[in-house]
Amino acid sequence: MDRLDERRAMVENQLVARGIKDGEVLEVMLKIPRENFVPPELQPMAYRDRPLAIGEGQTISQPYIVAYMAEALHLSGQERVLEIGTGCGYNTAVLAKLAGEVYTVEIRASLSNLARDNLASLGIDNVHFKVGDGYLGWPEMAPFDRIVLTAAPSKIPKALFEQVTPEGCLLAPVGDWSQTLQIHRRQGSEWFARDLLQVQFVPLVRDPEEV
Ligand code: SAH
Repeated sequence: MDRLDERRAMVENQLVARGIKDGEVLEVMLKIPRENFVPPELQPMAYRDRPLAIGEGQTISQPYIVAYMAEALHLSGQERVLEIGTGCGYNTAVLAKLAGEVYTVEIRASLSNLARDNLASLGIDNVHFKVGDGYLGWPEMAPFDRIVLTAAPSKIPKALFEQVTPEGCLLAPVGDWSQTLQIHRRQGSEWFARDLLQVQFVPLVRDPEEV
């Protein structure tokens, strides 16, 4: 069953009502079936205004935050994007529809495989998956026009800054208990940082057993 009506309500009440304006972001949020990305028992709650548990102590982000981050990245359809924290792949799917190629790194193999299946079932084929530690980025595939983290480090790893193109940017939640979503724009050798909003993501870990 396609749940287009629920998605329409989500887009109006959770996204447009809170100021998301980018027409392409709204269109993509209207198209991606979020219920496909959550465990069967949570499917009735798929369009709630909140993150949901997807297993292994991990979450699928709140729709508003996914849309907010996509809008903040200003994607034109051509960019190479690195995402750290694939999870179930919902945010990955949204980025894949708005950018050129998405490279996504997940530390837990089971989640990376789940995301691979979820995206394949939607026919999304411009995503490259890697199981590994996102602290290191994906140096073999760098540089990236955009880097986005969906798990929070206490401090943004240096390796990630090094993998951004000269006119690119990096978007990340930063902090331990209290986190701020930060955007760091690069202009050649200079960086300009801005705090966007308070958020709550799972921590970016070095070893999945730590959680
Ligand atoms: N992007 C997801 C949300 C993912 S939750 C969405 O669309 O809803 C954050 C993910 O980051 C989890 O799956 C977690 O396993 C992963 N993660 C945590 N630390 C990591 C690390 N060091 N490298 C890569 N992935 C990491």
